[in-house]
Amino acid sequence: MFELSLGTDERVVPLGEVVHLWQRSLIDDEPCGCGEPFSQCSFWTEVGAKAFGGWDRVDAERVLTLRHRIDRTVRTPQLAARVGGPAWHTDVREYASYYSRIYRAAVEVSGSSVVVDSSKQASLPYVLRYADGLDVRVLHCVRDSRAVAYSWTKQVARPDATTPASRYMTRYPPAVLAMKWLQHNLVIDGLRLGRLPTMLLRYEDWADDPVAAYRSTLAFAGLEPRANDHVDHDWVDLPTTHTCSGNPMRFTTGRVGIRRDESWKSSLPRRSRALVTALTAPLLATYGYRRAPR
Ligand SMILES: [Zn+2]
Repeated sequence: MFELSLGTDERVVPLGEVVHLWQRSLIDDEPCGCGEPFSQCSFWTEVGAKAFGGWDRVDAERVLTLRHRIDRTVRTPQLAARVGGPAWHTDVREYASYYSRIYRAAVEVSGSSVVVDSSKQASLPYVLRYADGLDVRVLHCVRDSRAVAYSWTKQVARPDATTPASRYMTRYPPAVLAMKWLQHNLVIDGLRLGRLPTMLLRYEDWADDPVAAYRSTLAFAGLEPRANDHVDHDWVDLPTTHTCSGNPMRFTTGRVGIRRDESWKSSLPRRSRALVTALTAPLLATYGYRRAPR
């Protein structure tokens, strides 16, 4: 929801999780955040035309092949060190160029100056370093690992699904999720060693003070503060966005209340909580989380 709230500023355009565009939008034609099927959305049609001369000029299978080979967490050391043969570098640059073309076209079509890609693929920022001329800044959003583990045990329907196989969001057992949480956050933390600017934002701090989180994020994106009566201390007035993929919340518009969801404290089984706490303890402390809930 935080990404969507950034879209209340006309200088920012949230695109959703662009890493899924190749399969879910181009091949499966899942709906855009505006409700139209991707192929019928006027925003994305215009973006495709400006970026590639039309989406029919993009070989989605080719991009997916590159993604599965390059855009992987295990590849981040190689991407970070920029090692590999000439063919590898050519492929990484080609893969990165699909994203940079979309970002530039989205800026042009929307009249905004900042694009938000909320892809949760931790290797993607490393890939984007290969794209020329992009000013990439990484907002590192973290949430208590126990809360994340609990939320991924729940069955959540995907209203955007166009095939029976994609009707529900993937679920993970708490121990598996704990390892994914560790890996994801360590990889993003690793960006600090490179030249990409990063900013840490805790879900809990955003939920406690959405206005402060919103302002500091815009400042991080290089935008001067501006009055915005769509974001308040406990609600946000969500605009229609053209998110290609992402959390089902993207279909929601209008005023939505913001408060901490701490249902994990009563609903995550004690054994799971102990296991996730033990597995993620060092990083939990780094991000300022307590081992035992208050
Ligand atoms: Zn749309």
